[in-house]
Amino acid sequence: MKRGWKQIPIAAVSWINSTEYKTGSWRSFRPIVDYEKCIKCMQCWVYCPDLAIKWNGEEINVDYDYCKGCGICSEECPVGAIKMVKEV
Ligand code: SF4
Ligand code: SF4
Repeated sequence: MKRGWKQIPIAAVSWINSTEYKTGSWRSFRPIVDYEKCIKCMQCWVYCPDLAIKWNGEEINVDYDYCKGCGICSEECPVGAIKMVKEV
């Protein structure tokens, strides 16, 4: 039998907009972009789960307030332009 929403277990729910959570404090590695290698393909923007990659009309930038350091952008970059560096 198909289950409805009433069968979903009770769990924590966020009560404020996610933009108010600065998840960058979770990060142990930070992505660093090598602009000499970047071909502006925007794959990092597509794959970033936190919308932390921004395009300013000329180049991409990482919004470190929200970047959690997952490294997906680095994995997906086709030219190896994003290096993950340990936070100090
Ligand atoms: S490390 Fe993860 S969260 Fe940070 S910019 Fe890359 S894909 Fe987004
Ligand atoms: S995926 Fe790599 S090459 Fe493409 S825009 Fe991002 S950093 Fe630049």
